[in-house]
Amino acid sequence: MMVFTKKMIEIRNILQKVGQSSTLTLPSIVVIGSQSSGKSSVLEAIVGHEFLPKGSNMVTRRPIELTLVNTPDSKAEYGEFPDLGLRKISDFTSIQRTLTELNLAVPDSECVSDDPIHLTIYSPNVPDLSLIDLPGYIQVVGHNQPLELKQKISELCDKYIQPPNVILAISAADVDLANSTALRASRRVDPRGERTIGVVTKMDLVDATRGTAILQDKQYPLRLGYVGVVSRAPQSIGGLFKKGSGGGDGSALMNLISKNEDSFFSAHPLEFGPTADVSVGTATLRKKLMNVLEQTMSASLQGTTDAIRQELEEATYEFKVQYNDRPLSAESYLAESLDAFKHSFKQFAEDFGRPQMLQLLKRELDQRVLDLLAQRYWNKPVSDLSPSVPEPDALADLPKADPDSLYWHRQLDASTAQLTKLGIGRLATNVVATNIQAGVDKLIAQSNFVNHPFARQAIVEAASSILNDRFYSTSDQVENCIKPYKFEIELEQREWDAGRDHSAGVLKDELAACQDALKRLEGSVGGRRKLSEVMNFVDKARRGDIAVEGESRSGAGGFSAALLQRGREAVFLRDRADIINMRLLATKHKQCRTMNNKYYCPEIFLDAVATKLASTAVLFLNVELLSEFYYNFPRELDQRLGRHLTDDEVERFAKEDPKIRRHLEVIRRKELLELVLEKMESLRQLDGREKSRRGSN
Ligand code: GDP
Repeated sequence: MMVFTKKMIEIRNILQKVGQSSTLTLPSIVVIGSQSSGKSSVLEAIVGHEFLPKGSNMVTRRPIELTLVNTPDSKAEYGEFPDLGLRKISDFTSIQRTLTELNLAVPDSECVSDDPIHLTIYSPNVPDLSLIDLPGYIQVVGHNQPLELKQKISELCDKYIQPPNVILAISAADVDLANSTALRASRRVDPRGERTIGVVTKMDLVDATRGTAILQDKQYPLRLGYVGVVSRAPQSIGGLFKKGSGGGDGSALMNLISKNEDSFFSAHPLEFGPTADVSVGTATLRKKLMNVLEQTMSASLQGTTDAIRQELEEATYEFKVQYNDRPLSAESYLAESLDAFKHSFKQFAEDFGRPQMLQLLKRELDQRVLDLLAQRYWNKPVSDLSPSVPEPDALADLPKADPDSLYWHRQLDASTAQLTKLGIGRLATNVVATNIQAGVDKLIAQSNFVNHPFARQAIVEAASSILNDRFYSTSDQVENCIKPYKFEIELEQREWDAGRDHSAGVLKDELAACQDALKRLEGSVGGRRKLSEVMNFVDKARRGDIAVEGESRSGAGGFSAALLQRGREAVFLRDRADIINMRLLATKHKQCRTMNNKYYCPEIFLDAVATKLASTAVLFLNVELLSEFYYNFPRELDQRLGRHLTDDEVERFAKEDPKIRRHLEVIRRKELLELVLEKMESLRQLDGREKSRRGSN
């Protein structure tokens, strides 16, 4: 019949995983007692090892939910902390150390916490039991302990000593039982003494007749009785194996303790022998605990089964109503999300190829060309309000300029050199890589992964690792292949024509941008009139029509400094727009139809050069960067999010999304409850058979 408790303990462990259901507790044995009553010694005697935290500084601060699992077929003895995910610990000193650390993690200011530590001990020498060790009751609060500590401990114990738990109330023989805090507490919740076992420790400290009298206590009679124990090594030898001194796991000491107890009780056969009608000894206590727990569990079988069925019904209902019975596992969720992501990436790859890359790069170079044009051809600095010598209106002359003028030759050659040498390799690679990275970010934002920081990071890193890997070689390659253009550029008429069309478009866009900016300025100063007043003033000052005595910080001509600044910007924009307008006309001029007149039309020539640079760069970008990326990225994703993740990582990933987490949890709860219910049913049958067998005997 011993299987029964074992199976119930298994079920109890599964139920613990179900979590959050306070209703689903199977009975345990709860150990209470005052500090120094000998509580730890009794527990250690039952386990056969020294493993509990020792020390004067309140070392039991959290409940220890101790599960003992009898393993008859194995010699190995070890402990496990299921919540910590540590491996089997076969060194009991190490278990003791871990327990001490876990307890002392509760700060002195709180002193106790109701967050339990779970510890399971496997051994052929322990019975199947589930015990809960609680902080010892204290009489006086220590100087650095919170005042309400007494109260807190007592409340924590009260939580655990509720039915259906069995109470193991520890009292020392040398303290009057009427003063035993443990018995007083248990009497409050179990007034008829139906589920309390009294343990009287330190029987060696009182004389034997008195000891017998204590065990036959009539003040608080217990149905399950009192058991007397001695759980300390004899004084003379104890020093050799000093408790808690580390070294070994104390099992030799345990042997000694057990021998000492045996010899103590057998030395008083009259008082403690078979005829004395008292229960004594740790072995007797163990047996009693096993029997009592088994009976209690058996008694609670029906109630627990009903509660589980109820809980299962709730979980099933939730699953149906909220999740439409849709199955889901962390792995399937990850696999589906990854597939969908790869699919959307494929679409991205189809949409972003050579033509798009060319367009992107050309747009970037258009900007550079505009900068060059402005710098070398268009700029009319409006730097301050002091009278300046009017510049020769060079641009206005450009279309009519002498094609052989060395000045215009130098301007265009210098502009071309600047364009070809601006670091096209790096620029082009950067533009494409940035666009890919932005594309990936966008895909993430539209995917399941958006709610998963872990996956988001993995994907971003997958992309950047490939791009970074390829960056330098790609940019070198591109730079190399455009090298010839740094020395000579030959254009065909076709390229010229295209440049002519395109540059007109670029100029128009620029013109529109200037006009927009002007509009915005108007708005910001409070209307067109106001702006033209300031512009007038700026113009006049520039021409020297009016004298401005050193513009001060407060402004000039009745305009504030800020307003004047706006005015200067507006004048600049207006002039820029005038020039662009003029240049637009110029590029349409028939002289600009042929590339022989390239010095007349730097806009067209530079545009054609930029196109040449961009299309050459794109050829290599395609091979070196884009194709490589498209090939490697999905593989890199598999590496980082696919089969290489451990089950735990997959689980953690899926649960990052609260919606998925709830979905997974309800399924898991349902599965666990189903499993438990099945086990309970078969146990009930076993229990039923056992009872009828006993009945017929
Ligand atoms: P806890 O604070 O209730 O866990 O008590 P411990 O188990 O640490 O024991 C407190 C003290 O009582 C220790 O010094 C033990 O050695 C001593 N002690 C425990 N059991 C016995 C016993 O049966 N006989 C004697 N004489 N001393 C004991």
